[in-house]
Amino acid sequence: MRQFSSLAAVMVAVSAVATSAQAAEPPGWPAFRAMLQEMVETDTSYASGDCTALAHKTAARMKAAGFPAENLHVFVPEGSPKSGNLVAVLPGRDLKAKAVLMLGHHDVVNAFREDWTRDPYVLVEENGEFYGRGVSDMKAQNAIFADNMVRYHAEGLKPRRTIKLALTCGEEPSGFVNGAAWLAQNQRELIDAGIAVTEGGGGDLDDQGRKLAVTVMAAEKATTNFTLEVTGPGGHSSKPRPENPIIILSDALVKLGALPFPAEFNAFSRSYFEAVAPRVDAETGAAMRKVLVDPADTAAMAIVDRSMSRRAMIRTTCIPTLIDGGHASNAQPQRVRATVNCRLLPGQSVASVRAAMEKAIADPRVKFSAPPAPTSPRPAISTLTPQMVDPIVAVAAKVFPGVPVTPMQETFGTDSTRLIVAGIPTFGFSALFRGDDAGNIHGLNEHVSVQAVVDGREFLYRLVKVYAEQR
Ligand SMILES: [Zn+2]
Repeated sequence: MRQFSSLAAVMVAVSAVATSAQAAEPPGWPAFRAMLQEMVETDTSYASGDCTALAHKTAARMKAAGFPAENLHVFVPEGSPKSGNLVAVLPGRDLKAKAVLMLGHHDVVNAFREDWTRDPYVLVEENGEFYGRGVSDMKAQNAIFADNMVRYHAEGLKPRRTIKLALTCGEEPSGFVNGAAWLAQNQRELIDAGIAVTEGGGGDLDDQGRKLAVTVMAAEKATTNFTLEVTGPGGHSSKPRPENPIIILSDALVKLGALPFPAEFNAFSRSYFEAVAPRVDAETGAAMRKVLVDPADTAAMAIVDRSMSRRAMIRTTCIPTLIDGGHASNAQPQRVRATVNCRLLPGQSVASVRAAMEKAIADPRVKFSAPPAPTSPRPAISTLTPQMVDPIVAVAAKVFPGVPVTPMQETFGTDSTRLIVAGIPTFGFSALFRGDDAGNIHGLNEHVSVQAVVDGREFLYRLVKVYAEQR
């Protein structure tokens, strides 16, 4: 934990120099907004979209804004024509210094127009929010990254370290090829960096929209899917058998819904709770302090658990996400399957999670899929260094004065692990403030506030410049 001691000291010293950034339109906003709009309005979901199309569009837009064409590279993995990736390079002046890499995924989770209130593939600005598939995960950050490159080039910036951008496909599970892994394998030199920043963390807002903390992703979760299956002989629906697979599986899923994985703190969730407890309402703050001392305090935990994010930050979670069963409306089901998606805290084994689920369900008629391959030969914990964190603390003092900075345990996984295993130190920091639902990413009516994007853009513009001058 030594690497956080300097962070703790600086957190206390955060100055309160007020800025009046909100008053005027930020520099270059129309060009940035057009970039974001094009990204959102180019469907990059696996069901109906195309990453390659967006990689080419973004490259063309950067080129039209003056970015040298020879430093823009589109890579399309063989055999997967829609899995295109874009890499851009702004050369530094010190050829021996390792680069800074901005990594974003430009694919998005499927969004079906009939489910949404607004068209998911139109950037809608309404009541101070941007809506659209990907605005929060993670096209606003990608647009900020690409816009940074254009602005730095237009300014004639000659940074010490080379600054790189990689916008990749296939981070979300789908049939796309994972671009971060592909680049690490096939273009390792081109994306090589001494420090890489991607999604995760950012900032937490309370339900009044007040800033609680600037958060830096120090650890993520591993993901694994189980399939639960019940089969039966079926038969005419007019002569129901006593055992119906759909009912058996439903009972099992209800038990799973009530299965509490125990709360467990690690250094990062602990730091987050300590930073945020003094800044939330008194009841929640007191509960957060109590569970830090005693995670078995059920009354306090019930209050903490009102927040989806905090509840998930300190636990492994498993929920059913897909269900498929039956073969005719007038037949008893012969087979029903549920996909159960688990998000594992670092260090938790797939076997122990499976055992907990089997024990809770306690029904041999419910068959679990063969143990899935362990999800974590991938490391779930990056090594946050002062080189990564100190500049965030310094920029936060200017852009979000008075708001503490803390490392945190993320509730999901990112592509950072793909680069970490390839030897590129990577961590998550979006600079975007969001509420408890994180903009309902992966869900309906995904959103992010316009102000969060304005501030996050200012933050990342400054931050990457600082990284680029580091020794
Ligand atoms: Zn994402």
